[in-house]
Amino acid sequence: MIKRSKIFNIILIVCVLFFNIAMPSNVEAKTLGNLKSELEKLLKEDQEVSNKIKYTNEQINKANNTINQLYKELDRIGAEIEQTNKEIAELGIKIDEKGKEIKNVVSFIQMSSSDSLYLEYIAGAENLTDFVYRLSVSQQLLEYNDQLIKEMNQMITDNNNKKEELNRKQEEAKNKQQELYNNLKVLNRERTELYEYNFSLEEEIALARKTIDMYIQAGCKDHEDLNVCANKILPPDTKLWRPTMRGYVTSEFGERIDPFTGKGTVYHSGIDISDRYKDNSSKIYAAATGKVSATGYSSSMGYYVFIHHNINGEKMTTSYYHMRAGSITVKTGQLVSKDTVIGVMGTTGSSTGVHLHFGVSRGLRMAGTDFNSNLVNPRTYVNFPSSLYRDWSDRTRRYN
Ligand SMILES: [Zn+2]
Repeated sequence: MIKRSKIFNIILIVCVLFFNIAMPSNVEAKTLGNLKSELEKLLKEDQEVSNKIKYTNEQINKANNTINQLYKELDRIGAEIEQTNKEIAELGIKIDEKGKEIKNVVSFIQMSSSDSLYLEYIAGAENLTDFVYRLSVSQQLLEYNDQLIKEMNQMITDNNNKKEELNRKQEEAKNKQQELYNNLKVLNRERTELYEYNFSLEEEIALARKTIDMYIQAGCKDHEDLNVCANKILPPDTKLWRPTMRGYVTSEFGERIDPFTGKGTVYHSGIDISDRYKDNSSKIYAAATGKVSATGYSSSMGYYVFIHHNINGEKMTTSYYHMRAGSITVKTGQLVSKDTVIGVMGTTGSSTGVHLHFGVSRGLRMAGTDFNSNLVNPRTYVNFPSSLYRDWSDRTRRYN
């Protein structure tokens, strides 16, 4: 009893393991409809970000306008302060003059009172009218003196108040300006972040569109599981072959010394193939039956071709870089076989000499997208002579 149950357990575990291995890793079936609604979401998000950028730009403009107004305000206050300082200086002279005047009056009064000149002056009246007149003059003199002192004090107070008020205004404007500058800094940072986010969103949208187009061109329906659909549309094959009739490997896949600087290591996403004859007419063939998914030019890849394959039910992509300008003979969407010439070796893009950079990816890789995780060593699928620089002279013979 016990033994049987143990055996049963072992069988069960083995079955589960086998099942896990056999199950496709992509459990959730994705349809073209799913991709389309994902794109819709991205477009909506992009619109929201664009609106936010617009709003932030408006805020920045407002802040800038206010700062400019404050500059003018500060200029005006500065001019006012200068004017007030001038007035204060002028007033100082006036005060000095008034001070002298007051001194004169005071000394006159003192002199006249102490030396009885004042009384003498009044007493010296020739008649009653003159007496009243002289008395009144003395009175007015005293009052005038009082008035002078009062006025002077008032002017000093006014000016000091004015100066204080202006200093306060200047301080306020400066604080306000600083506050606005801080605001502006935050707004500018937000704007930069939004632009960056917008940029990555737009890249995502472009990629989503490309992918959707690819599946539409392939004839996928909205509700179809893309894995099933892609398998259906890609003509099957069993093997990938060397992409040139003759040649030799000059550089392996993986980490390598940077060919441009000669120092440091860079990741090499494929295998480099050169032609000993260097006649610059070495033809490049599709590695297997498949469908051209992209052709074009980029500054790094040069003239390139991407081909999607269905190799024993596994979706794969082969890529061909640095092709000679004008040599590409296939179009996107075109079905090819292993005997289809797709172009000629060249040295376009970032390349140090005539060669073919040949890449192999698991899954459907799109040109211009960085699915480096999908890239594999081409030797995993394609037979090449194991040592560098060893020539082959046909596409199918096996080398060790
Ligand atoms: Zn390369």
